[in-house]
Amino acid sequence: MKKTELGGSNKALSSSVRKVNRNLIFRHLYHHPGLSKQELSEALNLSLPTLTQNLSELLERGLICNDETKKQSTGGRKARTLNVRGDAGFAVGLDVTAHHLSGAVINLLGEIVSSSRVRIPFAAEEAYFRFMARFIEQMLDAANVNRSRVLGVGLAVPAIVSRDGQQLTYASILNFTHGRLSDFAQHIPYPCRFVNDADAGGFAEYWNNGSLHESGRDRGILYLMVSNSVGGAFFLDGESYPGQNRRANEFGHITLHPEGRRCYCGQPGCADAYLNTKLLSDPYDGNLQLFFDALDAGDAQAAALWEVYERDLALLINSLRMAYDCDIVLGGYLGNFMGEERLRALRALLAERNHFDSSGDYLIACAYKREAAAVGAGLSYINDLLLSV
Ligand SMILES: [Zn+2]
Repeated sequence: MKKTELGGSNKALSSSVRKVNRNLIFRHLYHHPGLSKQELSEALNLSLPTLTQNLSELLERGLICNDETKKQSTGGRKARTLNVRGDAGFAVGLDVTAHHLSGAVINLLGEIVSSSRVRIPFAAEEAYFRFMARFIEQMLDAANVNRSRVLGVGLAVPAIVSRDGQQLTYASILNFTHGRLSDFAQHIPYPCRFVNDADAGGFAEYWNNGSLHESGRDRGILYLMVSNSVGGAFFLDGESYPGQNRRANEFGHITLHPEGRRCYCGQPGCADAYLNTKLLSDPYDGNLQLFFDALDAGDAQAAALWEVYERDLALLINSLRMAYDCDIVLGGYLGNFMGEERLRALRALLAERNHFDSSGDYLIACAYKREAAAVGAGLSYINDLLLSV
């Protein structure tokens, strides 16, 4: 009996070593496409037989492919290079907001293969959830996705999500506090999960920024989402920090002006009451683009609005820099309009306020525009696959 037990545990050990190696190989290839078998073996310090065995398994599962390319190092001779297959898996991300539904389908490489956006007010009703399911199928059709390859649907919501991910514990923007995942997912034939919208947007930027290293260790990134509401997320070592009550990084409710304007949360002076982008867009037909067009054209009303807004924004960003001491990505609707010149002006205000930093270069413009939250919600499924192969 003893021998059998020992045999069993050895078997378990070797199977777990094999899994670790396989995952190491897959993730290395994911981040370094186009390596030859030899290069991969050297980079990971794995013997060729071990590597060959794992590669066969990954090839068999359709997760990687063996491409024939001309490499300069071989003097124009054809060489075999290994790559992760983008079409091995797909994820859908939806960004559910009070007035719009946006979505993206991304492939295993994190590339957007189809996206869509419609103006539709959120309503916690059967008809809305049915529409959502159709919206997903239309995007999958547009990209001609084999449905058996759909890993899941991430639903980015402007809400606080319960620890088990099954319920919205605070969702005043959607007016659906206590809304359940089963309501949203009732017509969707794929695995679904909620992701807080700022967490999702932040994750997309974090992924894109390359901060998510293979080893899982990095410098951290803070994502400040400035849209019709203000929120954010903080990522370090591959994970977002959720806080004890899943309410970390609610930057919109940091007090900016005590005794100030009333926030939708009921408290006076919250950052959200001074920085939500409706303050800029409302006088311009609710269109943020029109506000920035007016600002660029020298419109006095727009300039006066922006001057106050920009100072308040600098106040909040400087406080976040003091608290986190890491790079800050400015995203959300506002991020779309932060061109080089505007960013430079904001960085100068930040440098003025900060005793430690001589420049505001730690502030970075977001890479994704409108689709960040949808992409990030989808990426959560891609990331799961990456970690579990
Ligand atoms: Zn508030």
